[in-house]
Amino acid sequence: MNKGYFGDYGGLFIPETLSHALNELEKLYTEIKDDKDFNLQLTDIYKDYVGRPSPLYFAESLTKHLNGPKIWFKREDLNHTGAHKINNTVGQALLAKMLGKKRIIAETGAGQHGVATATICAKLGLECIVYMGAKDIERQELNVFKIETLGASIVPVHSGTATLKDALNEAIRDWVTNVDTSHYIIGSVTGPHPYPTIVRDFNAISGKELKEQSLNQFKALPDMIIACVGGGSNAMGVFHPFIEDKTVELIGVEAGGKDSSDIGGASITDGSTGVLHGAKTKILQSNSGNILETNSISAGLDYPGVGPEHAYLADIKRAKYVKIFDDEALEAFYEISRIEGIIPALETAHALAYLKKISALDKSKNVVVNMSGRGDKDLYSVMKNAKH
Ligand SMILES: *Cc1c(COP(=O)(O)O)cnc(C)c1O
Repeated sequence: MNKGYFGDYGGLFIPETLSHALNELEKLYTEIKDDKDFNLQLTDIYKDYVGRPSPLYFAESLTKHLNGPKIWFKREDLNHTGAHKINNTVGQALLAKMLGKKRIIAETGAGQHGVATATICAKLGLECIVYMGAKDIERQELNVFKIETLGASIVPVHSGTATLKDALNEAIRDWVTNVDTSHYIIGSVTGPHPYPTIVRDFNAISGKELKEQSLNQFKALPDMIIACVGGGSNAMGVFHPFIEDKTVELIGVEAGGKDSSDIGGASITDGSTGVLHGAKTKILQSNSGNILETNSISAGLDYPGVGPEHAYLADIKRAKYVKIFDDEALEAFYEISRIEGIIPALETAHALAYLKKISALDKSKNVVVNMSGRGDKDLYSVMKNAKH
């Protein structure tokens, strides 16, 4: 495979001004990723700060209720800050620190990646600048305050539609100017090479743990792993250690939006090949190649592209991608809360909603849902929604 490519997808579609920064990052990451000292520090933070390993939990009540295969949850929702995103920000912030870079740049849409980045920067004593669209700042008051409480600065972006893609452009502009002192932390397995690989590797901690836990707890590999896919980092992380284990079925659940006439965030199911944010991948675009405006009940799945490795896994049929609509996700959100006493994030609720479609599987099968995050962050919007 060509460097930085997964089949036809990935690569570096970037302005010349960025190639120095990305080449340098690739070189340094290759040098450091197997370094003993780096890995000791990483393991230490994962254990005592993030709270890893996250448990593999048998959802007994839900299994009884669905009357199908055995359902297990990989509890990434129990991580510090409440989701899988911390796995990647911890890894990249530590990488930056070991590279002697004391200033971290990030972009955020709904604010979750901003919070996870500000958190680890506080712990490691790194300066943290979070670019955020002015419109998103208005919509995400609580996360804005969280980021500021953690000591990071937010830079409002007023250009374009004043949302995530504009924040991303500004963050990149900052990085190009300050590459010698700064590291740019991308929040998913998206963007130009080497980011999709770096972010996957840090998230693969959940898949590695799951492999060991399933062998201990049910003496076999899972028959199926289900994860939601926005940019695709929690799914890629939990899938990756199982790619060669062909008996393990991998299911990525995308957001379908309101109904089948809607443009949701299902870049694999509904999209076509194009270039977005520096990589060739599957994207939601019009016939003339303009990026479509996406729509989903969950902010974390509301993205018109997907990590290039997912596009590849879809093409070679190693993983299967499906979509779930807003109402189905909302129903799962309430159902899992009431049956298991676990309030899932709306993103995760998409993966959970898929369980309804597989209840005919044999009762001896073990199905694992990657619980990417908890629902605290979504309670306010669900509450407002229900009143309508
Ligand atoms: C951000 C987020 C996602 C989507 O991001 P991926 O990169 O696709 O994993 C999913 N679940 C939760 C809880 C999130 O915060």
